[in-house]
Amino acid sequence: MTRHDASSGTILRFLGGAGTVTGSRFLVDTGRARVLVDCGLYQGAKALRERNWAPFEEDPASIDAVLLTHAHVDHSGYLPRLHQLGFHGPVYTSRSSEQLCNVLLRDSARLQEEAARYANLKGFSKHDPALPLYTEADAEAVLKRFRAVEFGDPLDVAEGVNASFARAGHILGSATLCLAVEAGPRIGFSGDLGREAHPLLLPPEPPADVDVMLVESTYGNRTHREDHAVNRLALAIGRTAARGGVTVIPAFAVDRTEIVLLTLGRLMDTQRIPRLPIYVDSPMALAALAIYRREIQSGSQEIRPEMRGQGNPFDPGTLVETPSVQESREINDITEPAIIISASGMATGGRILHHLARRLPDHRNSVVLVGYQAIGTRGHRLLSGEKTLKMLGRYIPVRAEIVDISEFSVHADRDELVAWLRRAPSPPALSFVVHGEADAAAGLQRAISDSLGWFAVVPKLGERVRVGPR
Ligand SMILES: [Zn+2]
Repeated sequence: MTRHDASSGTILRFLGGAGTVTGSRFLVDTGRARVLVDCGLYQGAKALRERNWAPFEEDPASIDAVLLTHAHVDHSGYLPRLHQLGFHGPVYTSRSSEQLCNVLLRDSARLQEEAARYANLKGFSKHDPALPLYTEADAEAVLKRFRAVEFGDPLDVAEGVNASFARAGHILGSATLCLAVEAGPRIGFSGDLGREAHPLLLPPEPPADVDVMLVESTYGNRTHREDHAVNRLALAIGRTAARGGVTVIPAFAVDRTEIVLLTLGRLMDTQRIPRLPIYVDSPMALAALAIYRREIQSGSQEIRPEMRGQGNPFDPGTLVETPSVQESREINDITEPAIIISASGMATGGRILHHLARRLPDHRNSVVLVGYQAIGTRGHRLLSGEKTLKMLGRYIPVRAEIVDISEFSVHADRDELVAWLRRAPSPPALSFVVHGEADAAAGLQRAISDSLGWFAVVPKLGERVRVGPR
């Protein structure tokens, strides 16, 4: 595909993360250069996941560079596919995001390969033989394209395009971006925005002065109550232990596991919950935990000063890490009260499935959902109160107590998003509300217009918009 005429200005194209929380992909086409901000995988319902197989709307070889806000797969997981389809430019991201992608993209590739093998075994693929979306070799190839960026350092990423990364406080390495187009607009990207209350990471830096702002809206129509979340976690674990049960926590491998561990440690230290064994059973979560530990010990500037240099803040003395399959299986034999943290966070795959299959049928146990549950996932089914759940080829009765603590989020809520935008040096001429389901995006759009008096639009998937300086 040819570039548009540079004299006609900069075009922003919403290739994903519009009307949904996954598949974040935003193309900035200046006429002289094409830069893709985030390159996420669609996750959740089947109709969404099938979009990963659709032809990419633009020629991947025509993209000069990718800028990555953070490592979560819904922002980074399409990169190996983009590389396989012909993108061979640099991928700019923070040093911690590069380390985390090293874990997450390889794991994502293994899941793709596994899915293809399974489809071939069962013969239910439309393609014969079924092929993976990408392989571990594709992931490795694109990881070689990564270039680590320091927060705050302005950087030429393509002809006439300068970018700078600022801390977003969402997960380790997460950034908000400011893209300055020569003789064109300055465009801000919130990426996923974190919270003031994050126990480990410094809060988001204020937005840059931009003409156009893209802001996420995962919880654009919700407000979190941090104290509620911690209270409800303590009560749920207490009740479960009193019944002699086990609490299972499906957690996103990156960041959620760390927050849950820190919180459990504090609850144990203050005797609000009994000092129970905590099993972290996910190779990916353990790999991410090791990266977090390294950053804390080395005194990284992303970490809150009071946490820097600590040895192992994640272990309240009862932490058991179970990297091997054998150790993971042995958790099935536990009959005393305990806490099991495993991935994936929406129970779409991973070791969490065998823990749910083992623990859901017993009313003494509990499942505590601590993160966003996309429609169509098993996590969402549990939240909706379904009494049977199919997994590992079997129907499992749901008798365990299901506890929803989605307030335990690493995403800013509506008020925090608005408060962050308010800190902008001047109002952007135009804001786009992205990365949210329809209700959430509409909620934030209203809040931006009512509280800030800014002009905000919810873009449609695939939409092209001409943007200019004020
Ligand atoms: Zn994220």
